[in-house]
Amino acid sequence: MRLSQLFTKTRKEVSTDETSKNAQLLIKSGFIYKEMAGVYAFLPLGLIVIEKIKAIVREEMDNLGASELSMTTIQSKDLWQKTDRWDDKNVDVWFKSELKNGSEIGFGWSHEEPITNMLRSYISSYRDLPVYVYQFQNKLRNELRAKSGIMRGREFLMKDMYSFSSDEDKHKSFYDNTITAYNKVFDRVGIGKDTFLTFASGGAFTQFSHEFQTLTDSGEDVIYLHRQKKIAVNKEVLTSEVLDQLGLKREELEELKAAEVGNIFSFGSIKTDQLGLSYVDVDGKTRPVILGSYGIGISRLMGVIVELFSDEKGIVWPENIAPAKVYLARIGENNEVITSADMFYKVLTDKNIEVIYDDRDIRAGEKFADADLIGIPYRVVISDKTLKSGLIEVKRRKEKESTNMSEKEFIKKLAT
Ligand code: ATP
Ligand code: MG
Repeated sequence: MRLSQLFTKTRKEVSTDETSKNAQLLIKSGFIYKEMAGVYAFLPLGLIVIEKIKAIVREEMDNLGASELSMTTIQSKDLWQKTDRWDDKNVDVWFKSELKNGSEIGFGWSHEEPITNMLRSYISSYRDLPVYVYQFQNKLRNELRAKSGIMRGREFLMKDMYSFSSDEDKHKSFYDNTITAYNKVFDRVGIGKDTFLTFASGGAFTQFSHEFQTLTDSGEDVIYLHRQKKIAVNKEVLTSEVLDQLGLKREELEELKAAEVGNIFSFGSIKTDQLGLSYVDVDGKTRPVILGSYGIGISRLMGVIVELFSDEKGIVWPENIAPAKVYLARIGENNEVITSADMFYKVLTDKNIEVIYDDRDIRAGEKFADADLIGIPYRVVISDKTLKSGLIEVKRRKEKESTNMSEKEFIKKLAT
């Protein structure tokens, strides 16, 4: 990507009504654009990061044996009435509208009801089970407050997965595999050591749901963490009975602020019963289908990562999800410099190394400031000075000092 062709620009200041660190940094560096409170567009650089996170999540969900699909945003009222989740008294985040003929519709804030209803067309026998499906979809929620940047949107990107199993044991085994897959996702995007499985309210069978909470002061949740055991309890369920049940002692737990990046949930057969999804087993008996629901807030995850990985100069992207691996800064506008930088840009892109090529005619200081703000793992400088030495200047985003090396050495270094 040539920066001269990118329409977005970095900015020094962001409007004062944007108080969250993640949105401030992401707006300044040109990753997102604020449409209104809680509603953000993803600009080219931001979209690359979102797609990288999605690719990691997709790989792990595919490994679980789940299939990707895409449900609709417009949802039918009667499905949600059947499960008692249409009324605003029960679900306080609905966006609703009506058709020209006056009938009401809802905009998807979650998809258990439509997916369960749809699968009535495909599941009737034990041979049809299990079914694991997932999607990446913009969810719409009329959130009361939207002060956490992209960590709490009124329109935001979620990965939601649903499992339909023939009995509790099979459900449990998929549920546990999902916990493992989620841990892999959070490791791969760089927040593994800060993210903890957390017991929270809701859920059939065990009375709990499980959240994945990432430690950060910008989070809206309070959790009680047992560091050695690597599990936590959400404040909302912290009682002596719960601690006993989980074999935890209050004095061994740390009270910490955290952001919920994922949530997994057993619905048992409550919803499938309400919506009329069942199957016939080997003996010809009709049985209930067990539903599980598994979310990851993709855009929230991006916000949390920015909260965790930044310094006074800007974002410091974990390598796996950085919008590019290399920021190639061309310093100087003479032919020799331009030719060498153009050539090295081509060498890197031919090797499928993602490069942001700063080919703009601006001061070196501005290029360096942008490289830091945008947060690319490696900054490479090609200038008159480097041409004389025959080496390029390489600086890692996390480090202060640069080192000189040959183009070959650098490419080798990237491969390790
Ligand atoms: P919260 O308690 O933060 O409101 P939730 O429990 O209502 O979230 P779920 O319905 O479990 O959220 O959604 C799955 C995931 O989607 C959450 O774990 C979170 O990461 C993400 N998410 C939920 N609401 C939002 C939002 N308004 N903006 C961005 N991400 C969200
Ligand atoms: Mg939740």
